[in-house]
Amino acid sequence: MKIHEYQAKELLAAEGAAVPPGKVATSVDQALAAFDSFGGAPVVLKAQIHAGGRGKGSFVGSGADFGGVKYLTSREKVGEVAKVMLAYPLQTKQTGADGQKVSTLLVQKAADIAKEYYLGMVLDRASGVPVMMASAEGGVDIEEVAAHSPEKILKEKISPELGLLPFQARKLAFELGFQGDQVAQAEGIMRALSRVFLEKDCSIAEINPLVVTKEGKVEALDAKMVFDDNALFRHPEIASLRDESEEDPAELRAAQSGLSFVRMEGSIGCLVNGAGLAMSTMDIIKYHGGEPANFLDVGGGANKDQVTEAFRIILSDKRVKAVLVNIFGGIMKCDTIAQAILAAFKEVGFHVPLVVRLEGTNVDAGKKLLAESGLNIAAASGMAEAAQKVVDAARGKK
Ligand code: ADP
Ligand code: MG
Repeated sequence: MKIHEYQAKELLAAEGAAVPPGKVATSVDQALAAFDSFGGAPVVLKAQIHAGGRGKGSFVGSGADFGGVKYLTSREKVGEVAKVMLAYPLQTKQTGADGQKVSTLLVQKAADIAKEYYLGMVLDRASGVPVMMASAEGGVDIEEVAAHSPEKILKEKISPELGLLPFQARKLAFELGFQGDQVAQAEGIMRALSRVFLEKDCSIAEINPLVVTKEGKVEALDAKMVFDDNALFRHPEIASLRDESEEDPAELRAAQSGLSFVRMEGSIGCLVNGAGLAMSTMDIIKYHGGEPANFLDVGGGANKDQVTEAFRIILSDKRVKAVLVNIFGGIMKCDTIAQAILAAFKEVGFHVPLVVRLEGTNVDAGKKLLAESGLNIAAASGMAEAAQKVVDAARGKK
């Protein structure tokens, strides 16, 4: 689960990290009031969406020449820019072409930036521990640095039990080139980042940019956090920060029915039981030249309601040209699944070819039910045949 920049900054500030003063606004009037509260000092208006790259984004259809992060010095301009930001969707490298609607703005006192740094923490699966990453080349182009000069990104492995140790923070601060009392300031922000990451079960937490201002103050200007969904039950205060308007409606619907669903770019809808089988189904579709439209795991006990909802979610994607159901009946018997598929097929009103591969307990009874249904369902024996059939069907071949 992702949260907004202003929420991430609040979590960091609660652990002692320095962030510039800011106020949240959901209307032009509130944005103006926030500007006034800073005594007319320059502000940065920041559109709150979960996607990154806002600074370099654009407001679709607005004709405006600014992105989701705009430096402003007058009350009049704050009004004008807030109006556009709240009216038009913001498109960035990380949103789709339609962009994302903005309903909240962060009005932040502008920092007089001397230098921008990158600071981030992720779970490094290769070494099995969290890693803190830092770079003196922070700002909006950190992806370029990572791709072309990875040696400019410093890494420090963090003990999950002990957290970031003082000598590690000092080492990073010195290597980044901080001097004088900035070393201690930078260390304070690193410690806050490490504590939030470990205590709240983040999978990613980033401060980009971390800045030194011309007055010599070290501050977190932007923050992004992603939390491990499987650990959210331990953090109701984090779960309550969820903004459903930022999430893919299909993924949200699936989650409500207990389905694990991830949207992909292809044309073949997949309905599978078990995450491992779902992964191998996607692999074998690709092996046969097709592209999966989604990952969908109905779990161990797929019932009629779940299968019906799963079909509805898959078919609501207009790119889906054919659907593959790949079920291994273990605890769940194949004839029960077949009945669920038939009932769901009728209820949903299928409009694309459906290929079904069943294996496991009561497979013969299951296949018989499908064959005798008189419905337009292609049966397949084995994964290879199923994949070949569904790839052909998606291409419009018989
Ligand atoms: P994003 O990463 O989504 O583009 P950021 O919050 O990182 O958004 O903003 C992009 C750039 O805008 C920053 O790298 C920084 O140069 C500038 N910026 C952001 N917030 C402020 C601020 N409070 N004061 C001055 N400049 C800012
Ligand atoms: Mg940023």
